[in-house]
Amino acid sequence: MQNLSIAIVGAGIGGLTAALALARQGNAVTLVERRTGFSEVGAGLQLSPNASRILLGLGLGAALRRVVTEPQQVVVRAIRSGKPIGQVALGAFMRKRFEAPYWVVHRADLQTILLDAVRSEPAIRLVMGRTVEEVTDGAGRAGLTWTSAGGARETIEADLVIGADGVWSKVRQALGDRTPPAFRGTIAWRATCERSLAPAELAGDETGLWLGSRGHVVHYPIAGGRLVNVVAIQRSPAPVEGWAAPGDRDELLRDYASAAPALRTLLAQPREWLRWSLFDHPAGRLAQGRIALLGDAAHPVLPFLAQGAALAIEDAATLAVLLRQDGRDVVQTLAVYETQRLSRVRRVQNEARRNGRIYHAGGLIGFGRNQVMRHLGPEGMTQRYDWLYGFRIPA
Ligand SMILES: Cc1cc2nc3c(=O)[nH]c(=O)nc-3n(C[C@H](O)[C@H](O)[C@H](O)COP(=O)(O)OP(=O)(O)OC[C@H]3O[C@@H](n4cnc5c(N)ncnc54)[C@H](O)[C@@H]3O)c2cc1C
Repeated sequence: MQNLSIAIVGAGIGGLTAALALARQGNAVTLVERRTGFSEVGAGLQLSPNASRILLGLGLGAALRRVVTEPQQVVVRAIRSGKPIGQVALGAFMRKRFEAPYWVVHRADLQTILLDAVRSEPAIRLVMGRTVEEVTDGAGRAGLTWTSAGGARETIEADLVIGADGVWSKVRQALGDRTPPAFRGTIAWRATCERSLAPAELAGDETGLWLGSRGHVVHYPIAGGRLVNVVAIQRSPAPVEGWAAPGDRDELLRDYASAAPALRTLLAQPREWLRWSLFDHPAGRLAQGRIALLGDAAHPVLPFLAQGAALAIEDAATLAVLLRQDGRDVVQTLAVYETQRLSRVRRVQNEARRNGRIYHAGGLIGFGRNQVMRHLGPEGMTQRYDWLYGFRIPA
């Protein structure tokens, strides 16, 4: 199918990737985003080979190489003792095995690169600062409505609508799913600091993963290696208000009073912390009629496998490949999209939940986890995820 008109709700990583991929193959895309600009403090992103391969295929390699770093390994340590537990091979091993790199990047850098590419595509109309209020499907067309700056209602029609509007998706509701995402008792503290301020043993080209029974910490260099991104996952009885609420560094340091000195030093560096409540929602419908969902709108993923953005990128690329093929109409194609994606995204959601339980395990289960990591070794730990990182869009 060619020359379709496609409306996308939400210009996050998923919506931007979809707009780019779909416009590049001759479709006319309208991309509507409620925000007027993008600024995200203290938010890094791991881009595993299943995602980096797609971004490279979209011709973004040169721009990305200027801002990404490529950690050589994940070093896993115990929060209290600081003792090494195991390693996961990244860097050259990942490249060779999956023919694509495992990168880490500042989220704002990735978003800027995607946005620049979208802005240079004549086939994309980017509408910023507009909140989509209504999505309809009927009589061979789908529609979107928002209110313009002057207060007038604006409606556009399209061959299909893609909801890439994040975890609190309105478009998901249009598919009949009105259940709100569930808070599962963990929040993420996120910050960045200058790499020069990080303790020397934690400032290398590696990802650090610290495990404890009350939470875990991840850190890695971003912004071309200038900054270190730090994420501390903590148990919490209730979500924090708002999407990203300021966090008090002293409160975090109190929780980590008995952590290894190097980790405490790292956590003490950032001045500004933001707290994100983590929500889960089992994937249900990914498409119905002329409406499809992608990314967090379809299947929010707990960040314990670092796959939410990667899945959004996979969804976007899969939709583009399927819509390029002849022999089916839009409705049939979106049904195929749902069938192709559902089992994979559910598997990733389950694996992320399981990782959370394993990361925070104490006692015998924690001991068993550590033994398995030692037994598998760095390359064995990576090979467990061949099914994940080796993803290719089915022909
Ligand atoms: C602590 C943490 C760490 C993470 N680490 C990783 C990682 O290392 N690797 C990884 O792959 N993923 C990671 N993730 C997950 C990842 O951030 C998300 O899965 C991903 O950003 C989802 O992208 P998206 O485009 O689907 O949605 P979003 O990024 O949420 O974008 C949705 C967009 O839609 C817009 N929007 C919403 N409603 C409307 C409306 N009605 N009208 C118009 N616009 C609207 C929003 O403003 C937003 O811009 C992490 C998440 C967290 C919380």
